[in-house]
Amino acid sequence: MLSTKIVCTIGPASDTSEVLEDLAEAGMNVARLNFSHGTHTSHKKIIKQIHELNQSRKFPIAIMLDTQGPEIRTGNEKSALKSKEIVTVSCPPFKENEGNIHVNYPALKSDLKPGNYISLDSGLVKLKVIGKHKKGLKCEVIDGGIVNGHRHVNLPGTVVKLPGITKNDKRDILFGIKHKVNFIALSFVRNSETIKEVRKLLGKHAEHTEIIAKVENLEGVERLEEIVKEADGVMVARGDLGIEVELEEVPQIQRRIAFLCAKYGKRSIVATHMLESMIEHPVPTRAEVTDVANAIFEESDAIMLSGETSIGNYPVRSVETLKRIAKHTEIFPGVNFSKNLIMEKNGQHLAASAIQIASDLKIRAAVVITRNGRGARYLSNLRPHGIIIYSFTENADVLTSNVLYRGVYPFLLKLKKNPEDNIQDALKMLKDTRNFNSNEQVIVLANILTGEGFNTSLQVRTIPSD
Ligand code: PGA
Repeated sequence: MLSTKIVCTIGPASDTSEVLEDLAEAGMNVARLNFSHGTHTSHKKIIKQIHELNQSRKFPIAIMLDTQGPEIRTGNEKSALKSKEIVTVSCPPFKENEGNIHVNYPALKSDLKPGNYISLDSGLVKLKVIGKHKKGLKCEVIDGGIVNGHRHVNLPGTVVKLPGITKNDKRDILFGIKHKVNFIALSFVRNSETIKEVRKLLGKHAEHTEIIAKVENLEGVERLEEIVKEADGVMVARGDLGIEVELEEVPQIQRRIAFLCAKYGKRSIVATHMLESMIEHPVPTRAEVTDVANAIFEESDAIMLSGETSIGNYPVRSVETLKRIAKHTEIFPGVNFSKNLIMEKNGQHLAASAIQIASDLKIRAAVVITRNGRGARYLSNLRPHGIIIYSFTENADVLTSNVLYRGVYPFLLKLKKNPEDNIQDALKMLKDTRNFNSNEQVIVLANILTGEGFNTSLQVRTIPSD
Protein backbone atom coordinates (compact mmCIF):
# COMPACT_ATOMS: atom_id res chain seq x y z
CA MET A 1 0.00 0.00 0.00
CA LEU A 2 1.24 3.48 -0.85
CA SER A 3 1.04 6.44 1.50
CA THR A 4 0.87 9.11 -1.22
CA LYS A 5 -2.60 9.77 -2.61
CA ILE A 6 -3.44 10.60 -6.23
CA VAL A 7 -5.90 13.27 -7.37
CA CYS A 8 -7.02 13.05 -11.02
CA THR A 9 -8.75 15.85 -12.90
CA ILE A 10 -11.62 14.44 -14.91
CA GLY A 11 -12.27 15.73 -18.42
CA PRO A 12 -13.02 14.54 -21.95
CA ALA A 13 -10.20 11.96 -21.76
CA SER A 14 -11.62 10.34 -18.62
CA ASP A 15 -15.32 11.10 -18.15
CA THR A 16 -16.71 7.70 -19.11
CA SER A 17 -17.46 5.02 -16.53
CA GLU A 18 -14.93 2.70 -18.24
CA VAL A 19 -12.00 5.12 -17.96
CA LEU A 20 -13.05 6.19 -14.45
CA GLU A 21 -12.95 2.56 -13.42
CA ASP A 22 -9.53 2.08 -15.05
CA LEU A 23 -8.21 5.20 -13.29
CA ALA A 24 -9.53 3.88 -9.96
CA GLU A 25 -7.90 0.49 -10.58
CA ALA A 26 -4.63 2.25 -11.48
CA GLY A 27 -4.63 4.15 -8.17
CA MET A 28 -6.79 7.30 -8.36
CA ASN A 29 -8.00 8.25 -4.87
CA VAL A 30 -9.75 11.53 -5.58
CA ALA A 31 -11.54 12.70 -8.74
CA ARG A 32 -11.30 16.46 -9.29
CA LEU A 33 -14.02 18.29 -11.18
CA ASN A 34 -12.77 21.60 -12.53
CA PHE A 35 -15.71 24.03 -12.55
CA SER A 36 -13.84 26.38 -14.91
CA HIS A 37 -15.07 23.90 -17.52
CA GLY A 38 -18.24 21.88 -18.07
CA THR A 39 -21.82 22.43 -16.95
CA HIS A 40 -23.80 21.29 -13.93
CA THR A 41 -25.31 18.60 -16.15
CA SER A 42 -21.92 17.28 -17.26
CA HIS A 43 -20.52 17.39 -13.68
CA LYS A 44 -23.63 15.66 -12.34
CA LYS A 45 -23.11 12.83 -14.78
CA ILE A 46 -19.51 12.29 -13.61
CA ILE A 47 -20.51 12.45 -9.93
CA LYS A 48 -23.19 9.82 -10.55
CA GLN A 49 -20.67 7.57 -12.32
CA ILE A 50 -18.24 7.84 -9.40
CA HIS A 51 -20.95 7.13 -6.82
CA GLU A 52 -21.93 4.06 -8.84
CA LEU A 53 -18.30 2.96 -9.08
CA ASN A 54 -17.91 3.34 -5.31
CA GLN A 55 -20.62 0.76 -4.68
CA SER A 56 -18.30 -1.99 -5.80
CA ARG A 57 -14.97 -0.64 -4.54
CA LYS A 58 -13.11 -1.59 -1.37
CA PHE A 59 -11.85 1.98 -0.90
CA PRO A 60 -14.05 4.76 -2.27
CA ILE A 61 -13.03 7.50 -4.71
CA ALA A 62 -13.58 10.93 -3.14
CA ILE A 63 -14.81 13.88 -5.20
CA MET A 64 -13.21 17.32 -5.21
CA LEU A 65 -15.06 20.32 -6.64
CA ASP A 66 -12.58 22.94 -7.84
CA THR A 67 -14.16 26.41 -8.16
CA GLN A 68 -13.59 28.70 -11.09
CA GLY A 69 -12.73 31.53 -8.69
CA PRO A 70 -12.59 35.24 -9.42
CA GLU A 71 -11.05 34.98 -12.87
CA ILE A 72 -9.98 37.73 -15.25
CA ARG A 73 -10.24 36.97 -18.98
CA THR A 74 -9.75 38.61 -22.38
CA GLY A 75 -12.72 39.47 -24.62
CA ASN A 76 -13.85 37.42 -27.59
CA GLU A 77 -11.43 38.96 -30.07
CA LYS A 78 -8.38 37.08 -31.32
CA SER A 79 -5.15 39.11 -31.44
CA ALA A 80 -1.75 38.44 -32.94
CA LEU A 81 0.78 40.36 -30.85
CA LYS A 82 4.39 40.94 -31.94
CA SER A 83 7.19 41.44 -29.42
CA LYS A 84 8.15 45.14 -28.96
CA GLU A 85 4.82 46.27 -30.48
CA ILE A 86 2.87 48.95 -28.53
CA VAL A 87 -0.77 47.98 -27.86
CA THR A 88 -3.73 49.33 -25.90
CA VAL A 89 -5.51 47.21 -23.31
CA SER A 90 -8.97 48.45 -22.40
CA CYS A 91 -11.42 47.50 -19.66
CA PRO A 92 -15.17 47.91 -19.03
CA PRO A 93 -17.14 49.98 -19.77
CA PHE A 94 -15.94 49.31 -23.34
CA LYS A 95 -16.53 51.80 -26.08
CA GLU A 96 -16.66 50.74 -29.69
CA ASN A 97 -13.32 50.12 -31.47
CA GLU A 98 -11.43 50.83 -28.30
CA GLY A 99 -8.09 49.14 -27.60
CA ASN A 100 -6.45 46.10 -29.20
CA ILE A 101 -7.22 43.83 -26.28
CA HIS A 102 -10.25 43.86 -24.01
CA VAL A 103 -9.94 42.61 -20.43
CA ASN A 104 -13.08 42.09 -18.30
CA TYR A 105 -11.65 43.62 -15.10
CA PRO A 106 -13.19 47.10 -14.57
CA ALA A 107 -10.43 48.37 -12.24
CA LEU A 108 -7.63 47.41 -14.64
CA LYS A 109 -6.78 50.98 -15.59
CA SER A 110 -6.84 52.32 -12.03
CA ASP A 111 -5.07 49.35 -10.39
CA LEU A 112 -2.10 49.10 -12.75
CA LYS A 113 0.69 51.60 -13.21
CA PRO A 114 3.67 51.84 -15.56
CA GLY A 115 6.15 49.08 -14.83
CA ASN A 116 3.42 46.49 -13.98
CA TYR A 117 2.95 43.39 -16.12
CA ILE A 118 -0.10 41.73 -17.69
CA SER A 119 0.11 38.02 -18.57
CA LEU A 120 -2.25 36.57 -21.15
CA ASP A 121 -3.14 32.98 -21.97
CA SER A 122 -1.65 31.38 -18.83
CA GLY A 123 1.61 33.31 -19.09
CA LEU A 124 2.40 32.65 -22.74
CA VAL A 125 2.08 36.29 -23.79
CA LYS A 126 3.48 39.06 -21.58
CA LEU A 127 2.83 42.83 -21.72
CA LYS A 128 4.47 45.64 -19.77
CA VAL A 129 2.43 48.73 -18.87
CA ILE A 130 4.26 51.82 -20.12
CA GLY A 131 1.53 54.46 -19.74
CA LYS A 132 -2.15 55.29 -19.50
CA HIS A 133 -4.41 57.15 -21.88
CA LYS A 134 -8.11 57.71 -22.37
CA LYS A 135 -8.74 54.38 -24.04
CA GLY A 136 -6.92 52.27 -21.46
CA LEU A 137 -3.42 51.07 -20.68
CA LYS A 138 -0.59 51.59 -23.12
CA CYS A 139 1.55 48.45 -23.10
CA GLU A 140 4.69 47.12 -24.74
CA VAL A 141 4.53 43.49 -25.86
CA ILE A 142 7.43 41.71 -24.12
CA ASP A 143 6.65 38.14 -25.25
CA GLY A 144 4.45 38.12 -28.34
CA GLY A 145 2.07 35.43 -29.58
CA ILE A 146 -1.48 34.71 -30.68
CA VAL A 147 -4.13 35.37 -28.05
CA ASN A 148 -7.43 33.66 -28.79
CA GLY A 149 -10.71 34.89 -27.30
CA HIS A 150 -11.64 34.37 -23.64
CA ARG A 151 -8.07 33.64 -22.45
CA HIS A 152 -6.80 33.72 -18.85
CA VAL A 153 -5.37 37.05 -17.66
CA ASN A 154 -2.97 37.32 -14.72
CA LEU A 155 -1.82 40.56 -13.15
CA PRO A 156 1.38 39.49 -11.35
CA GLY A 157 2.05 41.39 -8.13
CA THR A 158 -1.09 43.56 -8.46
CA VAL A 159 -3.49 43.55 -5.50
CA VAL A 160 -6.79 43.04 -7.33
CA LYS A 161 -10.17 44.21 -6.06
CA LEU A 162 -12.06 41.02 -6.85
CA PRO A 163 -14.41 39.26 -4.45
CA GLY A 164 -12.89 36.26 -2.62
CA ILE A 165 -15.70 34.13 -3.94
CA THR A 166 -18.04 34.93 -6.83
CA LYS A 167 -21.81 34.38 -7.13
CA ASN A 168 -21.05 31.72 -9.66
CA ASP A 169 -18.72 29.90 -7.21
CA LYS A 170 -21.41 30.01 -4.52
CA ARG A 171 -23.91 28.45 -6.92
CA ASP A 172 -21.38 25.75 -7.83
CA ILE A 173 -20.58 24.98 -4.17
CA LEU A 174 -24.28 24.61 -3.31
CA PHE A 175 -24.66 22.32 -6.31
CA GLY A 176 -21.64 20.34 -5.04
CA ILE A 177 -22.94 19.77 -1.53
CA LYS A 178 -26.32 18.79 -2.89
CA HIS A 179 -24.56 16.12 -4.91
CA LYS A 180 -22.28 15.04 -2.05
CA VAL A 181 -18.82 16.17 -3.09
CA ASN A 182 -16.22 15.65 -0.34
CA PHE A 183 -13.73 18.46 -0.91
CA ILE A 184 -14.05 22.05 -2.11
CA ALA A 185 -10.87 23.39 -3.70
CA LEU A 186 -11.13 27.18 -3.59
CA SER A 187 -9.35 29.00 -6.38
CA PHE A 188 -7.27 32.13 -5.78
CA VAL A 189 -7.59 32.22 -1.99
CA ARG A 190 -6.00 35.46 -0.76
CA ASN A 191 -6.94 35.46 2.93
CA SER A 192 -8.64 33.41 5.64
CA GLU A 193 -11.90 35.41 5.38
CA THR A 194 -12.91 33.69 2.13
CA ILE A 195 -12.46 30.28 3.75
CA LYS A 196 -14.67 31.32 6.69
CA GLU A 197 -17.29 32.60 4.24
CA VAL A 198 -17.34 29.28 2.40
CA ARG A 199 -17.54 27.34 5.65
CA LYS A 200 -20.60 29.39 6.55
CA LEU A 201 -22.10 28.69 3.14
CA LEU A 202 -21.57 24.94 3.70
CA GLY A 203 -23.71 25.12 6.87
CA LYS A 204 -24.25 21.69 8.40
CA HIS A 205 -22.21 20.12 5.60
CA ALA A 206 -19.08 21.96 6.82
CA GLU A 207 -18.32 19.16 9.27
CA HIS A 208 -17.52 16.65 6.54
CA THR A 209 -16.77 18.82 3.50
CA GLU A 210 -13.12 19.80 3.68
CA ILE A 211 -11.93 23.10 2.24
CA ILE A 212 -8.68 23.07 0.29
CA ALA A 213 -7.30 26.57 -0.31
CA LYS A 214 -5.50 26.98 -3.64
CA VAL A 215 -2.57 29.30 -3.13
CA GLU A 216 -1.86 30.81 -6.51
CA ASN A 217 -0.80 34.43 -6.18
CA LEU A 218 1.42 36.78 -4.19
CA GLU A 219 -1.32 37.88 -1.79
CA GLY A 220 -2.05 34.24 -0.94
CA VAL A 221 1.66 33.60 -0.38
CA GLU A 222 2.00 36.65 1.83
CA ARG A 223 -0.87 35.44 4.02
CA LEU A 224 0.07 31.79 3.82
CA GLU A 225 0.15 31.07 7.53
CA GLU A 226 -3.33 32.49 8.23
CA ILE A 227 -4.67 30.54 5.22
CA VAL A 228 -3.09 27.25 6.35
CA LYS A 229 -4.48 27.73 9.86
CA GLU A 230 -8.03 28.34 8.61
CA ALA A 231 -8.26 25.79 5.76
CA ASP A 232 -8.42 22.01 6.01
CA GLY A 233 -5.68 21.81 3.43
CA VAL A 234 -3.71 23.73 0.83
CA MET A 235 -3.05 23.08 -2.83
CA VAL A 236 0.19 24.36 -4.35
CA ALA A 237 -1.43 25.56 -7.59
CA ARG A 238 1.85 25.88 -9.44
CA GLY A 239 0.27 26.79 -12.79
CA ASP A 240 -1.07 30.19 -11.79
CA LEU A 241 1.50 30.64 -9.04
CA GLY A 242 4.30 30.47 -11.59
CA ILE A 243 2.77 33.40 -13.45
CA GLU A 244 1.74 35.49 -10.46
CA VAL A 245 5.15 35.27 -8.76
CA GLU A 246 8.57 34.83 -10.36
CA LEU A 247 8.95 31.24 -11.59
CA GLU A 248 12.07 30.69 -9.49
CA GLU A 249 10.05 31.45 -6.33
CA VAL A 250 7.73 28.46 -6.85
CA PRO A 251 9.94 25.67 -5.40
CA GLN A 252 10.56 27.46 -2.08
CA ILE A 253 6.84 28.37 -1.80
CA GLN A 254 6.01 24.69 -2.34
CA ARG A 255 8.45 23.85 0.48
CA ARG A 256 6.95 26.47 2.82
CA ILE A 257 3.45 25.14 2.17
CA ALA A 258 4.64 21.59 2.95
CA PHE A 259 6.28 22.88 6.14
CA LEU A 260 3.28 24.90 7.36
CA CYS A 261 0.76 22.15 6.53
CA ALA A 262 2.90 19.70 8.52
CA LYS A 263 3.14 22.17 11.41
CA TYR A 264 -0.61 22.79 11.62
CA GLY A 265 -1.69 19.24 10.70
CA LYS A 266 -3.36 20.21 7.40
CA ARG A 267 -3.59 18.38 4.07
CA SER A 268 -1.17 19.40 1.30
CA ILE A 269 -1.56 18.75 -2.41
CA VAL A 270 1.08 19.48 -5.05
CA ALA A 271 -0.53 20.30 -8.39
CA THR A 272 0.13 21.09 -12.04
CA HIS A 273 2.71 19.96 -14.58
CA MET A 274 3.61 16.89 -12.49
CA LEU A 275 3.74 14.65 -15.59
CA GLU A 276 2.84 17.32 -18.15
CA SER A 277 4.66 15.67 -21.07
CA MET A 278 2.47 12.58 -20.62
CA ILE A 279 -0.42 14.60 -22.06
CA GLU A 280 1.17 13.72 -25.40
CA HIS A 281 3.81 11.09 -24.72
CA PRO A 282 3.65 7.64 -23.11
CA VAL A 283 6.67 8.34 -20.87
CA PRO A 284 7.45 11.38 -18.70
CA THR A 285 10.66 13.37 -18.73
CA ARG A 286 13.28 12.46 -16.12
CA ALA A 287 12.83 15.93 -14.59
CA GLU A 288 9.10 15.28 -14.11
CA VAL A 289 9.84 11.98 -12.37
CA THR A 290 12.19 13.77 -9.99
CA ASP A 291 9.63 16.54 -9.39
CA VAL A 292 7.02 13.95 -8.38
CA ALA A 293 9.57 12.20 -6.15
CA ASN A 294 10.44 15.50 -4.46
CA ALA A 295 6.76 16.13 -3.64
CA ILE A 296 6.70 12.64 -2.08
CA PHE A 297 9.90 13.36 -0.10
CA GLU A 298 8.14 16.51 1.11
CA GLU A 299 5.47 14.15 2.49
CA SER A 300 2.54 15.82 0.71
CA ASP A 301 -0.77 14.09 1.20
CA ALA A 302 -1.41 13.97 -2.52
CA ILE A 303 -0.14 14.64 -5.99
CA MET A 304 -2.54 16.02 -8.53
CA LEU A 305 -2.79 15.40 -12.25
CA SER A 306 -4.53 18.00 -14.44
CA GLY A 307 -4.25 17.83 -18.24
CA GLU A 308 -2.59 14.41 -17.96
CA THR A 309 -5.90 12.79 -16.99
CA SER A 310 -8.46 15.33 -18.27
CA ILE A 311 -7.38 15.83 -21.88
CA GLY A 312 -4.26 13.70 -22.29
CA ASN A 313 -3.60 10.69 -24.48
CA TYR A 314 -2.45 8.53 -21.56
CA PRO A 315 -4.66 9.16 -18.50
CA VAL A 316 -4.43 5.67 -17.00
CA ARG A 317 -0.75 5.31 -17.76
CA SER A 318 -0.07 8.65 -16.04
CA VAL A 319 -1.62 7.31 -12.82
CA GLU A 320 0.32 4.06 -13.14
CA THR A 321 3.50 6.08 -13.59
CA LEU A 322 2.80 8.10 -10.42
CA LYS A 323 2.27 4.88 -8.51
CA ARG A 324 5.54 3.43 -9.74
CA ILE A 325 7.43 6.57 -8.72
CA ALA A 326 5.73 6.61 -5.29
CA LYS A 327 6.53 2.94 -4.71
CA HIS A 328 10.24 3.51 -5.21
CA THR A 329 10.37 6.85 -3.43
CA GLU A 330 8.43 6.05 -0.27
CA ILE A 331 11.09 3.48 0.69
CA PHE A 332 13.22 6.42 1.79
CA PRO A 333 12.33 8.67 4.74
CA GLY A 334 11.08 12.13 3.83
CA VAL A 335 11.78 15.62 5.15
CA ASN A 336 10.12 14.87 8.51
CA PHE A 337 8.52 18.33 8.79
CA SER A 338 5.95 16.69 11.08
CA LYS A 339 8.48 16.93 13.93
CA ASN A 340 7.22 20.55 14.14
CA LEU A 341 3.57 19.46 14.41
CA ILE A 342 1.72 21.46 17.05
CA MET A 343 -0.04 19.01 19.36
CA GLU A 344 -2.64 20.47 21.68
CA LYS A 345 -4.99 17.56 22.31
CA ASN A 346 -4.42 14.40 24.35
CA GLY A 347 -5.57 12.38 21.35
CA GLN A 348 -2.65 13.76 19.33
CA HIS A 349 -0.14 12.67 21.98
CA LEU A 350 -1.72 9.26 22.10
CA ALA A 351 -1.42 8.99 18.31
CA ALA A 352 2.25 10.01 18.52
CA SER A 353 2.85 7.30 21.11
CA ALA A 354 1.07 4.78 18.89
CA ILE A 355 3.42 5.57 16.01
CA GLN A 356 6.48 5.50 18.28
CA ILE A 357 5.55 2.05 19.61
CA ALA A 358 4.72 0.79 16.12
CA SER A 359 8.13 1.84 14.80
CA ASP A 360 9.95 0.39 17.82
CA LEU A 361 8.17 -2.94 17.37
CA LYS A 362 8.42 -2.82 13.53
CA ILE A 363 4.64 -2.94 13.26
CA ARG A 364 3.43 -2.06 9.76
CA ALA A 365 -0.21 -1.18 10.45
CA ALA A 366 -2.10 1.18 12.73
CA VAL A 367 -5.82 0.53 13.27
CA VAL A 368 -8.01 3.40 14.35
CA ILE A 369 -11.70 3.22 15.13
CA THR A 370 -13.11 6.68 14.66
CA ARG A 371 -16.56 8.25 14.52
CA ASN A 372 -15.51 11.65 13.21
CA GLY A 373 -12.23 10.85 11.44
CA ARG A 374 -10.11 12.81 13.90
CA GLY A 375 -8.05 9.80 15.06
CA ALA A 376 -7.12 8.96 11.45
CA ARG A 377 -6.07 12.56 10.85
CA TYR A 378 -3.94 12.63 14.01
CA LEU A 379 -2.09 9.50 12.88
CA SER A 380 -1.70 10.73 9.30
CA ASN A 381 -0.33 14.07 10.49
CA LEU A 382 2.63 12.23 12.02
CA ARG A 383 3.66 11.06 8.53
CA PRO A 384 4.72 7.62 9.84
CA HIS A 385 7.32 6.00 7.63
CA GLY A 386 6.45 2.45 6.54
CA ILE A 387 3.19 2.32 8.53
CA ILE A 388 -0.25 2.20 6.88
CA ILE A 389 -3.20 3.56 8.85
CA TYR A 390 -6.46 1.63 8.54
CA SER A 391 -9.37 3.71 9.77
CA PHE A 392 -12.73 2.16 10.63
CA THR A 393 -15.80 4.34 10.75
CA GLU A 394 -19.53 3.96 10.32
CA ASN A 395 -19.94 7.41 8.81
CA ALA A 396 -19.83 7.32 4.99
CA ASP A 397 -18.77 11.00 4.77
CA VAL A 398 -15.87 10.47 7.18
CA LEU A 399 -14.91 7.38 5.24
CA THR A 400 -14.64 9.23 1.95
CA SER A 401 -12.80 12.30 3.24
CA ASN A 402 -10.22 10.02 4.90
CA VAL A 403 -9.25 8.94 1.39
CA LEU A 404 -7.10 12.04 0.84
CA TYR A 405 -5.10 11.66 4.05
CA ARG A 406 -1.55 10.49 3.55
CA GLY A 407 -1.20 6.82 4.49
CA VAL A 408 -4.87 6.32 5.48
CA TYR A 409 -7.09 3.57 4.04
CA PRO A 410 -10.66 3.74 5.38
CA PHE A 411 -13.12 0.91 5.96
CA LEU A 412 -16.83 1.19 6.67
CA LEU A 413 -17.69 -0.66 9.90
CA LYS A 414 -21.05 -0.82 11.59
CA LEU A 415 -20.10 0.09 15.15
CA LYS A 416 -21.43 -1.96 18.03
CA LYS A 417 -22.07 -0.91 21.63
CA ASN A 418 -19.22 -2.94 23.06
CA PRO A 419 -15.87 -1.35 21.97
CA GLU A 420 -14.06 -4.69 22.14
CA ASP A 421 -16.45 -6.09 19.51
CA ASN A 422 -15.47 -3.23 17.19
CA ILE A 423 -11.77 -3.96 17.60
CA GLN A 424 -12.37 -7.67 16.92
CA ASP A 425 -14.44 -6.85 13.83
CA ALA A 426 -11.79 -4.46 12.51
CA LEU A 427 -8.98 -6.99 12.97
CA LYS A 428 -11.02 -9.68 11.27
CA MET A 429 -11.80 -7.37 8.38
CA LEU A 430 -8.10 -6.65 7.94
CA LYS A 431 -7.27 -10.32 7.97
CA ASP A 432 -9.97 -11.09 5.38
CA THR A 433 -9.20 -8.27 2.98
CA ARG A 434 -5.53 -7.32 3.33
CA ASN A 435 -2.47 -9.50 3.31
CA PHE A 436 -1.96 -9.99 7.03
CA ASN A 437 -0.48 -13.04 8.67
CA SER A 438 -2.27 -14.58 11.62
CA ASN A 439 -0.73 -13.38 14.87
CA GLU A 440 0.90 -10.37 13.18
CA GLN A 441 0.99 -7.40 15.57
CA VAL A 442 -0.84 -4.16 14.84
CA ILE A 443 -1.21 -1.01 16.89
CA VAL A 444 -4.80 -0.05 17.79
CA LEU A 445 -6.26 3.31 18.80
CA ALA A 446 -9.85 2.87 19.93
CA ASN A 447 -12.31 3.76 22.63
CA ILE A 448 -12.73 1.45 25.58
CA LEU A 449 -15.33 1.64 28.28
CA THR A 450 -13.89 2.71 31.64
CA GLY A 451 -15.47 3.78 34.94
CA GLU A 452 -15.44 7.36 33.54
CA GLY A 453 -17.22 6.38 30.32
CA PHE A 454 -15.47 6.01 26.95
CA ASN A 455 -11.72 6.68 26.86
CA THR A 456 -9.31 6.35 23.95
CA SER A 457 -6.92 3.48 24.47
CA LEU A 458 -3.68 2.49 22.82
CA GLN A 459 -3.13 -1.24 22.46
CA VAL A 460 -0.80 -3.66 20.72
CA ARG A 461 -3.06 -6.40 19.33
CA THR A 462 -2.59 -9.40 17.10
CA ILE A 463 -4.44 -10.37 13.95
CA PRO A 464 -6.60 -13.36 14.96
CA SER A 465 -5.70 -16.84 13.75
CA ASP A 466 -8.45 -18.78 11.98
P1 PGA B 1 -6.29 25.47 -12.23
O1 PGA B 1 -5.42 25.48 -10.89
O2 PGA B 1 -6.12 24.12 -12.84
O3 PGA B 1 -7.66 25.76 -11.77
O4 PGA B 1 -5.70 26.56 -13.08
C1 PGA B 1 -4.20 24.86 -10.76
C2 PGA B 1 -3.02 25.77 -10.99
O5 PGA B 1 -3.16 26.97 -11.24
O6 PGA B 1 -1.91 25.23 -10.88
